[in-house]
Amino acid sequence: MKKISSASIWLVVFVLVILASLTLLETNKKVDTLSVNQFQDYWVKKQIKSVQVREDKTVEGQLINGTQYETIVPLSRLMQVMDKNPNDKVTETYVKPASMPMWLQIVPTLLIILMLVAFWFMYMQQSQGGGGGGNRGVMNFGKSRAKIATPDKKKVTFDDVAGEDEEKDELAEVVDFLKQPKRYLEAGARIPKGILLVGPPGTGKTLLARAVSGEAGVPFYSISGSDFVEMFVGVGASRVRDLFEQAKKSAPCIIFIDEIDAVGRQRGAGVGGGHDEREQTLNQLLVEMDGFGVNEGIIMIAATNRPDILDPALLRPGRFDRHILVGAPDVKGREEILKVHSKNKHLADEVKLDVLAKRTPGFTGADLENLMNEAALLTVRNNKNVIEMLELDEAVTRVIAGPEKKSRVISEKDRKLTAYHEAGHAVVMKYSPLSDPIHQISIIPRGMAGGYTMHLPEEDTSYTSKLKLKDEMVGLLGGRVAEKLIMKDISTGAKNDIDRASSIARKMVMEYGMSDKLGPISFGNDHNEVFLGRDLGKSRNFSEQVAFQIDSEVKDLIGEAYAKAEKILDENIGKLHAVAQELLLKEKLEGAEFEAIIARTESDEIELS
Ligand code: ADP
Ligand code: MG
Ligand code: ZN
Repeated sequence: MKKISSASIWLVVFVLVILASLTLLETNKKVDTLSVNQFQDYWVKKQIKSVQVREDKTVEGQLINGTQYETIVPLSRLMQVMDKNPNDKVTETYVKPASMPMWLQIVPTLLIILMLVAFWFMYMQQSQGGGGGGNRGVMNFGKSRAKIATPDKKKVTFDDVAGEDEEKDELAEVVDFLKQPKRYLEAGARIPKGILLVGPPGTGKTLLARAVSGEAGVPFYSISGSDFVEMFVGVGASRVRDLFEQAKKSAPCIIFIDEIDAVGRQRGAGVGGGHDEREQTLNQLLVEMDGFGVNEGIIMIAATNRPDILDPALLRPGRFDRHILVGAPDVKGREEILKVHSKNKHLADEVKLDVLAKRTPGFTGADLENLMNEAALLTVRNNKNVIEMLELDEAVTRVIAGPEKKSRVISEKDRKLTAYHEAGHAVVMKYSPLSDPIHQISIIPRGMAGGYTMHLPEEDTSYTSKLKLKDEMVGLLGGRVAEKLIMKDISTGAKNDIDRASSIARKMVMEYGMSDKLGPISFGNDHNEVFLGRDLGKSRNFSEQVAFQIDSEVKDLIGEAYAKAEKILDENIGKLHAVAQELLLKEKLEGAEFEAIIARTESDEIELS
């Protein structure tokens, strides 16, 4: 707020100065008002240099000695004088076009001022939108916007970063160096200058970097890559210069560049050639990084989720040469993160965070934080004081799929279609041996989806086998097969399933080398086009013939999965009906309820036969 008021004070001063100088200019013109006799006097003495007729027919002009004069008598009276005494000294006698009123004359000036003001506000807006504090305004255009978080501010430590023990171990050395650089200097050790934190969004990269500075108790200069990329050419580069200047003064310290991909994208790439401004900024960054010595006490940390598009020069030894992967947490990590974020919340005794952690595979730290927050919000909405499993469960689904749209009106036919579609998934998954157990089935629309069937692995795995992938495709196609079987027609609702099944099949053939015919070879290049960042399009490293084979292999895989799904549903049509009917009734089935229906129908079928 302080920024804005000081800016507006400047603005007011600016406008006042302009107005004052305008009036001064006006009054500075000393104007002599001449009577007819005086005019005649000057005229006869040939002292009059110019005569201009004003709109109101009076006259103004200049004397030979430079003084401005005017008359209040009309031209017609003066003409008599002039006619009687021809005067060749007069340089100009013309009728001035209708002179503009004073207020019209200042319109252009006003426009310019207005434009300046608009420009100013645009700049202010932009710099505020860019996130970040610091004092900035027009007066410090090129100044870096690094936010300085000094050690005494709300300190983030490694305790706030749950899980991620390997990452913390790697960073512990840096912390130690920042705390006692002397020891390292004496031992002649070289500490890495630049550390690149690589990982998907929300995994806690920013948090880790902050924790390093908190642990070491050194200043933390944080700036986001997009802050460098400005609309004014040259500003980015000067920001970089300024940032390093500041940092050097307060070494030991940490410079943190968040989202470095915004500025560090490979040079000379992208649609329509490079972005000159960005390249200039990147060059400056490289120069500065080389400019400070190895053990000067400045550690640069950068974070990105797109290391593949970074300029290789950034990753060279002596720059960001140490990479730390910050991945999505595992079960244990998730439990710990949940613990951190439930510290200031009231949880019911029945709540088991380890159970919750098991239910949230693939959740990042940010997702988990969001989950706890959603649960707290739901608790308030439900007029409760403590968060129970009910809220947490709903929050999980909310984070995955967005809030339930209970109010959306769905036709009975669509409901039936969705119910059979989801039941189809569930039954097929149930009878594909390698599929994960069903966790929840719902036909309540969420986000874009009309319904969903959630199946969760019992444990986190890093590798997936071929048979498991095949079973996954079978499960995905189960929805479509059920539609066909029951409704005798198919719908667009299966688009997402089909996309995913196709992508699995294609990856199995092209990337995982799982095709019997083509063998363990990977096809296509490994860098996908990154928003056209590196390569325009994909280069193909195989022939037309192989392309044909790939297509036919993919087709075979899908065909096989489809046939298997059909077979399963054919054999278990009673269960499909039972599950679908129950879904239509209850809209949502938990894993256990689903299992109960399957068991019940199974025993019914045995009795019947
Ligand atoms: P990134 O920079 O990787 O996108 P952030 O560091 O901004 O992610 O994390 C976003 C939020 O998620 C953090 O503010 C924190 O609340 C939460 N979070 C992420 N990872 C963790 C973790 N390991 N422990 C605790 N909280 C975490
Ligand atoms: Mg971040
Ligand atoms: Zn589906």
